[in-house]
Parts: sequence; C-alpha cells; structure tokens
Amino acid sequence: MTTQGIVGQFLSLKEDTDADLLAMQCGDFYEFFAEDAETVGRELDLKVSQKSSHGSSYPMAGVPLNDLTPYLKALVEHGYRVAVADQYETESGDLRRRITRVVTPGTLLETSRDDAQFLAAVVTGTDGVGLAFADITTGQFLVTEAATVEDAAAELYRFAPVEVLPGPDLRSDDETLSRLREATDASFSLFATDAFAPGRARHAVREQFGESTVDSVGLDSELATQAAGGVLAYVEETGAGVLRSMTRLRVYRPSDLLELDATTQRNLELIETMHGDRSGSLFDTIDHTMTSPGGRLLREWLTRPRRDRDQLSHRLDAVEALASAALARERVREVLDGAYDLERLASRAASGTAGASELLSVRDTLDVLPVLADAIEGTELADSPLTDVVARPDRDAAATLHAELDEALADDPPKTVTQGGLFQKGYDDELDELIERHESVTSWLDTLAQREKRQHGLSHVTVDRNKTDGYYIQVGKSVADQVPDHYRQIKTLKNSKRFVTEELEEKERDVLRLEEARGDLEYELFQELRERVAQHAELLQDVGRAIAEVDALASLATHAAGNGWTRPELTEPGALHIEAGRHPVVETTTEFVPNDLHMDRERGFLIVTGPNMSGKSTYMRQAALITLLAQVGSFVPARSATIGVVDGIYTRVGALDELAQGRSTFMVEMQELSNILHSATEESLVILDEVGRGTATYDGISIAWAATEYLHNEVRAKTLFATHYHELTSLADHLDRVANVHVAADERDGDVTFLRTVVDGPTDRSYGIHVADLAGVPRPVVDRASDVLNRLRDEKAIEAKGGGSSEPVQAVFDVGSGQMKVASGSGSGNPANGSAQNASADTAPESESASEPALDPEMEAVLEELESTDVNATSPIDLMAKVQAWQSKLAGDGDRSEGDR
Ligand code: ADP
Ligand code: MG
Repeated sequence: MTTQGIVGQFLSLKEDTDADLLAMQCGDFYEFFAEDAETVGRELDLKVSQKSSHGSSYPMAGVPLNDLTPYLKALVEHGYRVAVADQYETESGDLRRRITRVVTPGTLLETSRDDAQFLAAVVTGTDGVGLAFADITTGQFLVTEAATVEDAAAELYRFAPVEVLPGPDLRSDDETLSRLREATDASFSLFATDAFAPGRARHAVREQFGESTVDSVGLDSELATQAAGGVLAYVEETGAGVLRSMTRLRVYRPSDLLELDATTQRNLELIETMHGDRSGSLFDTIDHTMTSPGGRLLREWLTRPRRDRDQLSHRLDAVEALASAALARERVREVLDGAYDLERLASRAASGTAGASELLSVRDTLDVLPVLADAIEGTELADSPLTDVVARPDRDAAATLHAELDEALADDPPKTVTQGGLFQKGYDDELDELIERHESVTSWLDTLAQREKRQHGLSHVTVDRNKTDGYYIQVGKSVADQVPDHYRQIKTLKNSKRFVTEELEEKERDVLRLEEARGDLEYELFQELRERVAQHAELLQDVGRAIAEVDALASLATHAAGNGWTRPELTEPGALHIEAGRHPVVETTTEFVPNDLHMDRERGFLIVTGPNMSGKSTYMRQAALITLLAQVGSFVPARSATIGVVDGIYTRVGALDELAQGRSTFMVEMQELSNILHSATEESLVILDEVGRGTATYDGISIAWAATEYLHNEVRAKTLFATHYHELTSLADHLDRVANVHVAADERDGDVTFLRTVVDGPTDRSYGIHVADLAGVPRPVVDRASDVLNRLRDEKAIEAKGGGSSEPVQAVFDVGSGQMKVASGSGSGNPANGSAQNASADTAPESESASEPALDPEMEAVLEELESTDVNATSPIDLMAKVQAWQSKLAGDGDRSEGDR
C-alpha cells in the first residue's frame, strides 16, 4: 500500500467521525497524520516526521501498538475526543481499517483518577431539566429531573462530570448553556440529536435496564428518560463496550436530598476550596478512607446530604458503633486495605480489557468480603447496621466466584494474555495435557546437552535457542571435529560451531506447536473466565459497594474519634442547638475557640456582628457545616448538637471574597440573593455573609434591611446574617424572631484582642481602625481615624475642612438617620450640591446656607471611600496610595485627577 493510500484512508476515516483526532493502526503502530500529527506532537511532545509520497508530504506521528493507552489518556485529559481505528484482515486476506471506538473524557475506561468519572446528559424542556449521569468505569447510572436551570446547575456541580452531552434544545439556548457551563469544568460534546428523541430514548432505557426495573424505580420523567437515552446511545457509539456493566438504574428525586445550590457547595468548600484546591476542603480534611471506592462514596455522601431521618440514623448508628470500638475499627480498616476497586474491575471485565492481574484483584477483593464480615460479626460491631451492609451482597455467589478464580489463575501470571502461563494445573484437562507434553519436550531439550556429552564424549556442549537459528547444539571449536555424522552444521562462530539434528528439529517443531496451542488455549480459557466475571458485574458492584460503604463509615468514625466529634441528635426542622461547636476544617489547623449557637422557631434569625476578622464568617459556616455533616450521617465537631433536619442550605458570602475570583460582584451578589429569596423555605438554613456590600452604603443598607424583613416575614427560613451595617442590629427591636449576637473582642489600652467568643447582643462599635493599624496603615491616618471616630461617637459631629479654606466647616453625621447635616450656628457651610469634580476652593467660604446638607463633597467622597474600603482586601501599597489621595483631597490640593473611582 502506498503512503498516499494510507494517508488517503486516514483522511477518509477522519471524515466519518466527529472526533477531534484519529489514531489509525498501521502494523505495530498507531499513526496520526496531517494536522492530527501536529496536534499530537504539540500536546504530547511526540516526534513528528514527514511522510512523503506522490509529491505531497504529510506530517506523521506514531505510538507503538501496546503503548496507546497512556497517550489516549493524556489526549483525552487535554480535552480531545480521539477515535481509534484498528486494522483487520478480510476473509480474502485484504487489510482494512475501521474505527472501533471513540475515546472521550466521559468514556475513558483506563482512567487513573480515583474520583468518579461522570458522563452527563442534560435535556431541557418547558417545565424542567432532565439529567442523566453515568460513570462507565463503575457502572453507576443515575437520572433525575430538576425543576429549574438553577437546580440543574446545582446537580452538575454536585456530580462534577467530565463530559456533558447537551440535548437538542439546549444546544441553541446560549443563556442556559452558559449558566450550566459555569457549574462545571466538563467538556461539552455534541451528539446525534435523534438519540435524545423520546421514543428512541425510552426504548434504549428499557432495553438496557429491563422493563420491570424501569417501572419499579419510577422513571416517569420524560426529560430524564431522554437524557438517559442520550447517554446510553453515546456510550454504545463510542464503543467502550461497557454498556452491560451498567446494570442498575437509580432514579432520585432532588427532594430526597438536601438542596445545595452550586454557589453554596463552593462557598462551603466541600470538595475543593474557593481557590480550587483540594487540600483544605471538608472532604480532604475528613477523608480517612482506605480504598478509592470508599473515597468516592464519602465524596458522594458529602455532596448529597439527605433529609430522611431514618436513613441518617442508620448511618449514625454505624458510625457510633465504629467510633466507640477502636480495636474493631482498626481491624476493619486493616481488612479494607486489601481491597481493590471492584466496581472498576467489573467494568474492565465487561469491556474485555481486564488482564490476568485484574482478575487476580477481583479474586483477592472477593476474599475481603468474608474477612470483613468476620471483623464485624465477631465483634461489638455485630449489632450495628454494618452487619446489614456486609450481608447485602450475595455472599455465596461471591464465594463461588472467588473459588473459581482461585482454582483457575496462576499466582504470578505474565502481563500478556496470549502467551500462556495464566492458569494453574488442574484447571482444564486439555490444557494440562498440553502443558504436560510441552514440559516433557522442554525437559528433553533441557537435558539434551548432558546426553550428547555422555554419548559422544564431547566436552563443551550447550543447547540453546534464538530467533534466527531456532534450537541448536553448540560445540566448542576444540572438539568440533569430533561431532557424530548426523550433526548438521548451521553456523560457525569465533570459538564454536552450531549444529542441528533431525531429532532436534522435530522436537523444535513440537515445542513451537505446543507453545502456540497452549497460548491459544489459555487465551480462549481466559476469555471465557473473564466473560464469566463480566456476567457477575452486578455481584461485583454489590460487593464493591458494601466494601466502599464500610470504608466510608469507618472513615467518618475515625475522624470523629480522633477529633472529639459527637453524635448529633436529629430533630424536626426549626431547631439548631450547638454547644461548644467548632469549624470542622479550621479546628484542625488552629487553636479553636468553641462557640454555642441556639436557634429555634422563636429565635430564627440571628444578626451576627463583630469586628473584622473576629470570626463571623467562621461561626456561620460552622453552623452550616455542622448541619450538613449531620445530614450526611456523620458525627459533628461540637460537645453536643441538636439539629433540626433542613431541606436546603443556602449561602452567599461577601462580595469581596468573590472579587478575588474575578466574578463581577454586585450583579452576582444580587443574583444569589434573588435565588435564595426564591428558593429557601421555612425549613431551610440561610447563611448571609454580608449583603449589599457591593454598592453604595445607603443602597446596601436598604437592600440588606429589606431582605432581612422578607426572609423573616415571608420565607421564615432559619437565617444567620453577618453584617458590618450596625444599623441592622436595631431590626431586633422591630422583628420578633430576630436576635443579635456578636463576636466579642476585648479592648484595653487601645489594643484589641479577639476573643472569638460569640455572645448575645449587638456589638457597640467597629474595630476597623485597629485592623487598619495592624495592616500597616500609616500612623497619622490611624490616629486621625481614631480622632474622627471619637468625635463621631461623642459629638456625632466632625469638622470638615471646607475645600481649600482654612475655615473649618461644622457638619453633623447623624448616626441615627444616617444623614449629613450642617451643624446649626457654626462656621460656614458648603453648598455640597456639586459633585466632587466641581466643588472647588472658591465656592466653599462664601456659602452660608445652613439648611443645605453642607459637607464638602470632597470630604463626603473621602468618607464614603474610607467606609467602603475593606482593609483586609486591599494591599498595603494600595492602601497607602488611597490614603495619600484622601489626604491631598482633604488638604484641598485641588488635584481633581487624583483617581477615586
Ligand atoms: P470575620 O468574618 O469576622 O471577618 P473570619 O471568620 O474570617 O472573621 O475569621 C477570621 C480569622 O479568625 C480566621 O483566620 C479564622 O481562622 C479565625 N477564627 C475564627 N473563628 C475562630 C475561633 N472560634 N477560634 C479560633 N480562630 C478563629
Ligand atoms: Mg467575614
């Protein structure tokens, strides 16, 4: 075949696939040509050569046949969809090539990541969003219908899929598409729209899972069915061959779960921090699982807390049993350490990609189950729900499969499955006979040299084998002329000669024939064995799931025991009583000061005030995380906790924390607030960490005020609201369920000590100036700020310097009304009706009008800025620049270009 021919074939195969890249088998290599070669060369640092033919030259890059997997993985992880074309021989002996599979992020079987690898489909309709999530590496398959796009985004965030298939309508809906893209890092792949068609999808789902299953799990959502159909068709088309390991359809209703919007999941740093790091997340902190399936399950639990108290009590019972039985727990974890990832192994078997060592892992893990059961049933754990967990899989079937594998596989099988050596003696009669014959020939060969020496009186004789000469008898040069007549010389070397005999050639043919026959037979037997394992995919998934569950529970118990966590008492919604509670993550790195929290129907809305950096945010997140952990079925970091099960947790955190992530602040803040006000119910927990900060002060206060009233009067959700607007604390006088708490600080000799203790009542003052001092704001500014503050407090009035004039202007800031007034009868006012830009030195002194708000606009601008500057979020350099600008404004330098906005 000419190069032109191969490249031509490559290009025409490429036409037929919508994959980004094509790897085409050419003998012992997979080759990429043309543009693909360049892409691959760039992405994987592969050498690109030129293949020329018929006057054209094509870039070409290749990888050895057996090395494709790691390259595929790398390409897919870079976001490419790669088609693989294999070569095959037709009946008439022609060499052809066809695409056998397309590897995409969601259908990569050879993954090395521990996390679940979900492929999702999203089908939007007029009254909901259908979602399907499949992990082909484990056979998990979940479907649901979300009510709104927001809810769908929350689910996408929860599952963190690696690939998303948008349904037909969604593709042209830019707005929804971009909202969903925000909730996931997944790559979006377009896939044949007809796969999502209701009729076809329903058929595919029923084919896959069986009529009765589909009916019994209650899959009645058409949108969800469409999504499921899309996923199934995609998996089938990509040819991963794992469809049959997807045996179980799980339909869930979002209402079974604690509602957690995407923002809240991020804010609470469940799986990763706001900066996108794993370390420092809740999961990272509490994960002590011994196996990757256990880790996956724990992660699933954390992102999918539940509402059902019975179910949660079961988990809590198990955790309690494990937490209080240290020795038994350690034994359980030791046993778990021997388990492999059975769910993934099942998929590997189903797809026909498992080798002998994978089947050995299956064998060993099946053997973990009875040992684990012993470690539970024979100890104080026996009365706990753990007993049910290990009793759930069919243990007899598992034992049978284990025995079968145990009798079949050799202990140290070779990597390849085509060259024999995989099976033990006694597994198969035919194989035994082949092995026996093979061994008798090889032993004849092994002893040939000895015999020849003896029979023909030759010294220096060896018998060996190589690729070109086959088996030969090698005789040292000194005795080479003494060899018998039936020796036929085939080669002369420097110090020796090589001979063969008819008998040796015959034995050689025997060996080769037997080796081939053994290889073939073993491969056949291996495929049969692997197939039987594949048929037990469901059993393997059951066993894997049981092991994972014990692992996740033991992990929760380990963390609880190691960190003094207690079992929460779950009660009706409304109540939230935490004594000596701690933040689950912060407590592991800090000397943590525990705090109490008491909320109930009568005291359902807490306004949390306190100095900057005193611990408000920590206190509120702690409340959310303790509630969440309780609804995961975990112990919680507290001396005691009574937790009313909530239907959802909603949070929004300070615009400034988000600023760091480059999200536009105020609009996002208002969107989040809007979502909370729409979605939260009387049974929800709402955490508001600063609202209205992203806009001007009075705007901000007004919004915060109104939102508080609405949450209190209409939504009636349990709410914690931290604010730096002290004005809001007076709401407690007007709204009966609102109470004030604050984080105490101790101020002595001008020094502030954060006590980190939350006590009832509002703070009376802000400690912002202290923080400014800590942050390195120049001493004169700190002193001046203290001075201003004291005057504000004592006289509710400060002197403002009229622009450019040496005459002070007396203006009053009425703390009660939040209004600026010119103090009656003193000094000269400023008409203050102009903007900062046109207030100028010559207007101020003339103005005598006391009825006008008389603060110099410059002054007002500076005050506004001073107030809205978050010291924590501003670098010292920027602070200095700001302060300098303020100073020159206050000094009336009149440099209007000094940047303020
Ligand atoms: P605020 O929201 O009031 O500005 P944060 O909640 O961000 O304050 O807390 C500021 C710092 O104090 C954080 O570094 C946090 O780790 C620490 N902190 C908060 N609460 C406690 C506590 N109870 N015990 C010990 N350290 C705490
Ligand atoms: Mg804060």
